[in-house]
Amino acid sequence: MKRHTFPHGIHPPELKHLTESKDIETVPAPETLVIPLHQHFGKPAKPLVEKGDDIFLGQKIAESDGLFSASVHSSVSGKVKSIDPFSHPGGSPVPAVTVINDGEDRTDSKILKKEMSLEEVARLSSKEILEKVKEAGVVGMGGAAFPTAVKLNPPSDKPIDCFILNGCECEPMLTADDRLMQKYPHEIIKGAELACKATGAKRIIIGIEDNKKKAYALFCQQVKNCPSIFLSESERPFREVALLKTKYPQGAEKNLIYALLKREVPRGGLPFDVGTVVQNVATSKAIWDAVSRNRPLYERIVTVSGSGVNETKNVSVRIGTPIYHVLDFCGGIKEDANLLIIGGPMMGIVQWTTDVPVIKGTSGIITWKVSQAPLEFSCIRCSRCVDHCPMRLVPTQLAKLVKYDHLSEAESWGILDCVECGSCQYICPSKIPLVQWLRLGKTKIISKKRKKSA
Ligand code: SF4
Ligand code: SF4
Repeated sequence: MKRHTFPHGIHPPELKHLTESKDIETVPAPETLVIPLHQHFGKPAKPLVEKGDDIFLGQKIAESDGLFSASVHSSVSGKVKSIDPFSHPGGSPVPAVTVINDGEDRTDSKILKKEMSLEEVARLSSKEILEKVKEAGVVGMGGAAFPTAVKLNPPSDKPIDCFILNGCECEPMLTADDRLMQKYPHEIIKGAELACKATGAKRIIIGIEDNKKKAYALFCQQVKNCPSIFLSESERPFREVALLKTKYPQGAEKNLIYALLKREVPRGGLPFDVGTVVQNVATSKAIWDAVSRNRPLYERIVTVSGSGVNETKNVSVRIGTPIYHVLDFCGGIKEDANLLIIGGPMMGIVQWTTDVPVIKGTSGIITWKVSQAPLEFSCIRCSRCVDHCPMRLVPTQLAKLVKYDHLSEAESWGILDCVECGSCQYICPSKIPLVQWLRLGKTKIISKKRKKSA
């Protein structure tokens, strides 16, 4: 069977066996939740509530501030305790709404008790779909947290012919998307059709890596069986499932587009530029929930894994739940655990406390015991980092340029195309922290540009 892929990349140990057979369990909502107003790419949302307000489950508590922003909703009913800066898994504290849960789950009246019928969904215009997705605060749930309503609204001079559903989940250890695909195939497919209606795409490709055999077999059946939101057959997008080689980072948008369509997104460009839109499978389900039930994005599936936790699990968690509460639900962490990462082990962010909340982009909570950090040696010019970079960059040179503050040169060498996948650092025999240099360089260049345009 043909397996699609992209050039370069790496094969880290998958370690999916720790959770891949574990069905999704629900973490009970905690007594106190901290819901950050900045969980997405772009500007933080503006609060709509005040200290002491009584709020409902699913109520909008902060409004998106401009195009590149996303609204935030309460994941429980209860009382607003405070709105203050709070630790965030991204690193720096951000303003957050602390909610005391009343345990009653009094639901916002805008959320429909049952799904709209397919006929009702079919009557919605592209504009109405986009409004519902925006209203629900849906963002990319694969980690980047880009506002979905923006992604589904390409510029008029960039026609979209293909919508790619990203079911790769190429990060080692994570299996939340795999379990989600096995549990909600119809919702995911219908969400993709809504995306096609919004973008004008006439083809859906569902890309799944070959280490997710059950999900692949299920989707091969369900692309034929799942009812369509398009009532007329002539309007229906063509649905297909594509098998991908298990390789990291297969799920990075540009790699996935190349692997499936052999289209190359130009340097500095976006998937729009080659007629495609890519969405993660969890985002597709969130689109369906937002449109068919007016249900905001207030909970998500997270993989809890690693040798540092007592019970590895896939769990459904309300946004704003503290990480320590989720870990407690998984039997707590082992005494000798000394590393906590939010996200996957390759691209996730190391944490210094378990008192940070789950946010919309939290795909994994990984904890384990590591021995001392490896010693760093000088570059031996082996070029392994160059040979494995999926973006065809020269990581060793870029890291040096950043180190000596030659930022404009680093930009001309394409540093902004780095997707921070960590493949170069993983493969480097001298254990040089390449990604840290690349991240630093990108941050400096982007903030310089922002200051200039302001
Ligand atoms: S330079 Fe960036 S894109 Fe290339 S391997 Fe390193 S982290 Fe990944
Ligand atoms: S892999 Fe490491 S040692 Fe080899 S060229 Fe790249 S930075 Fe240098």
